[in-house]
Amino acid sequence: MTTPALRRASPSSTRRAPSRPPGLRRAAGSRRLVFRFDQLPEVRRTARTWDEVKGLLGGKGANLAEMTRLGLPVPPGFTVTTEACRAFLRTGNWPRGLWEETQAALHELERRTGKRLGDPAEPLLVSCRSGAKFSMPGMMDTVLNIGLNARTVEGLATLTGDARFAWDAYRRLVQMYGTVVLGVRDEPFEQVLAEWRARRSVENDADLGADDLRAITGRFREIVRTQSDREFPDDPLEQLRLATEAVFRSWQGKRAQDYRRAAGIPDDLGTAVNIVAMVFGNMGRSSATGVATTRNVSTGENALEGDYLVNAQGEDVVAGIRATKPIALLEKEMPEVFAELQRIARLLERHYREVQDIEFTVERGKLWMLQTRDAKRTARAAVQIALDLAKERLITREEAVLRVTPEHVDFFLHPQFDPESMRVARSERRLLASGLNVSPGAAVGQLAFDADTAERWAKKEKKAVVMIRAETKPDDVHGMLAARGILTSRGGRTSHAALVARQFGKPAVVGVMALEVDAERREATLKRSSVVLREGDWISIDGTTGEVFLGQLETMQPSLEDPALIELLGWADRFRRLGVWANADYPRDAERARALGAEGIGLCRTEHMFFETERLPLVQQLIISRSDDERREVLAKLLPLQRADFEGLFRAMDGQPVTIRLLDPPLHEFLPAHDTLLREVTELETRLELTPGSTPDGAALEGKRRMLGAVERLREMNPMLGLRLGIHMPGLVQMQVRAIFEAACNVAEAGVDVYPKIMIPLVTHRNELRWEQRALEEEARRVMSERKRKIRYRFGTMIEVPRAALTADEIASLAQFFSFGTNDLTQTTFGISRDDAETSFLSEYLTQGILPENPFDHLDELGVGRLMEMAVQLGRKARPGLDIGICGEHGGDPKSIAFCHRIGLDYVSCSPFRVPVARLAAAHAALRSARPARAHRAEPARS
Ligand code: ADP
Ligand code: MG
Repeated sequence: MTTPALRRASPSSTRRAPSRPPGLRRAAGSRRLVFRFDQLPEVRRTARTWDEVKGLLGGKGANLAEMTRLGLPVPPGFTVTTEACRAFLRTGNWPRGLWEETQAALHELERRTGKRLGDPAEPLLVSCRSGAKFSMPGMMDTVLNIGLNARTVEGLATLTGDARFAWDAYRRLVQMYGTVVLGVRDEPFEQVLAEWRARRSVENDADLGADDLRAITGRFREIVRTQSDREFPDDPLEQLRLATEAVFRSWQGKRAQDYRRAAGIPDDLGTAVNIVAMVFGNMGRSSATGVATTRNVSTGENALEGDYLVNAQGEDVVAGIRATKPIALLEKEMPEVFAELQRIARLLERHYREVQDIEFTVERGKLWMLQTRDAKRTARAAVQIALDLAKERLITREEAVLRVTPEHVDFFLHPQFDPESMRVARSERRLLASGLNVSPGAAVGQLAFDADTAERWAKKEKKAVVMIRAETKPDDVHGMLAARGILTSRGGRTSHAALVARQFGKPAVVGVMALEVDAERREATLKRSSVVLREGDWISIDGTTGEVFLGQLETMQPSLEDPALIELLGWADRFRRLGVWANADYPRDAERARALGAEGIGLCRTEHMFFETERLPLVQQLIISRSDDERREVLAKLLPLQRADFEGLFRAMDGQPVTIRLLDPPLHEFLPAHDTLLREVTELETRLELTPGSTPDGAALEGKRRMLGAVERLREMNPMLGLRLGIHMPGLVQMQVRAIFEAACNVAEAGVDVYPKIMIPLVTHRNELRWEQRALEEEARRVMSERKRKIRYRFGTMIEVPRAALTADEIASLAQFFSFGTNDLTQTTFGISRDDAETSFLSEYLTQGILPENPFDHLDELGVGRLMEMAVQLGRKARPGLDIGICGEHGGDPKSIAFCHRIGLDYVSCSPFRVPVARLAAAHAALRSARPARAHRAEPARS
């Protein structure tokens, strides 16, 4: 049986771009391609949801119509639909009837304004504005002041009594028309303006006189003629027609395409075109133009924020040509306008139930609204605004939780570079290179070229360290942990460095191809440049963007203690059904996880404990030992160390489950590399031959030979599918179980509420579990009876190979819990090794679209997911109420979390730093599955 979720995720349906809203298809035949702003009721007849309205009219058009309906001061106008655009782009021609409809709407506009396009006595001017369903700020084109020519400009001058204004509007039209419609570069125009400013010794275009602007317009027309081989058209209708076509085409512009790719906007939506009667912010001191957000979108503070310019038009504010004024000043300069703006801002917020980003223009003291849309915001503002809107009862708490994204929460977890400091670094050309942004956050430190140096500098010398390697391996982990950040020249998103970095919340940039790392010489060279980085040099890496800077940048720490975030996550907790646990190997990680809201430890990997400097020799001795006595002796030394590890964990998690995975990796990982050993043995042998009988070398040689023997015995062709340690060397895991239970008894005596869950790794066959679990349970009982104490505990297993999933019912007859190790389950299901895959074919598969996404980042729901779902059902059939979680890296991935919710897991377990993200993602999963998505969309009220 498949869930609807699985069926929905079929590649054919996910890869197809969203189809046209159904309402439009139904209206085929009688389809209208033009709607006036006051015709929203007609639009609503075919496009019933707000989403469909925006699909048809574009966001800008839909909101202009909506504001018109609300009685706000919007200049009259009309919208040419996205449908018309699509038809135009398909055929290269105006679809039948469109020009007639446009002209009819234009006549209505003329009737209402009492002005006529091209009439020198009462000239109507319009803007021709792009506006797609999803906002693509600045990516497409707009032409202002359409309708001006040699005759109407004079009419406008007389009518307004302001020749300077009229010529300014005209020169803007020629410039915009030239660049947008005819594709002339902007530089020659700007050059002419600069010449005139210099000639008149003024700083602003606004200070040029009417005669200057008349001359400039002449020059502009020449530029158009020489650069495009076309005349600037004097016929306003032709201006309008060609501008509309240019706006249609701007959907296909490179900028727009790149933006869509980055923002995940489908390519086949098309843009609408809005024809709007012009209002003028450049009619003198009582006119202005500006942009504002209804709240502060950096901090979330509930106050109107924005900029404006007196005596200016449209783009001047965003273009940054003139210094703008903060909106607060408008209260002094134009108190009535300000009050009106504030009233409208409040009204829009209440109406859209969302913070708005607005454009306005003041023409001789009268305020006009030119645009409104949902405002973009920083993570911090997103959280604050969601909370506030819910408290103001504009939205529900569910909606508040849904309006904050997991990425927003992620942002709170990592230090960022101070923007000013970044700007300076860039301007000083200290941005060296960039690589893959695999683990977010900013780190500043001195370069260390190996793990030991990194650890020594960080721990003993208290230095800030960034560890740099070509790539990292498991025995680099201690250095990575000690470092502030990790930088590698090779490796991809799933490389060891990336994985470990994410696991421990260390900022990391990997795969910086431009760097050549030479660990022997302790330097890294920047290809195609003279820069050489040496050990100890200061470096700043940004794991959020993948950038690498020379020197020390300032960082700022967004706080996880942010009260708004804490409150919002508290709300999220009430909506989620999935538990959120953490993967933590050390007590300090467990404490951190708990502080971040973890409800248990889902995976404690004991192998990390054995890699620690003072323990590794013991483990190696254990592996190469030949006698039981020797083995027992080593185990006795390891026992107290392990016990102490577990005591710390239990104490940190008082009252919550702690899942401990018994030792798992192939043993050879604990031993030195075969090549190295072989070389050392040969060297010692040669030396011994030269000076026979020198004892120190003899002893060393004997040790190395034993080690080499063990390495050779344990060498595997395919280490992924290695022997199972617990069966091969039962003493070791038995010691671990003893340590767990002794630790549990010890802390329980001190009043701690302990709940160990012992997890046996990588089971393929029920018999393995039977063999091992029986012995371990016996050991557990032995300890408890020695200590005369009962401990609550469970024995369970990881589901990491397809066979385990397929026979989950058999396995569940013994195992008391399951945990999906989805990193290995993904490897074994695909039959690929992650390391091999990411260093060779995976990136190619992803770029070619052979795989829709990296299965190590997001659960492969169709394959691996189906196995998981099967295991859940089989497992619970054999053992009702079997508790099941996931401890692979996917446990911290929002998309995979949603899947885990759908197949009914009890909890997800992720790295401590991902816990807040997972809490929110789990709430999103529950809220989204409980109700159709539309119920949560910000939709303006219809009354
Ligand atoms: P964008 O999507 O790039 O913001 P717009 O279509 O909103 O492009 O227009 C660009 C600028 O021109 C904006 O500042 C807008 O307010 C201004 N503008 C557009 N139409 C008019 C109009 N009819 N009257 C006055 N200003 C306008
Ligand atoms: Mg705009």
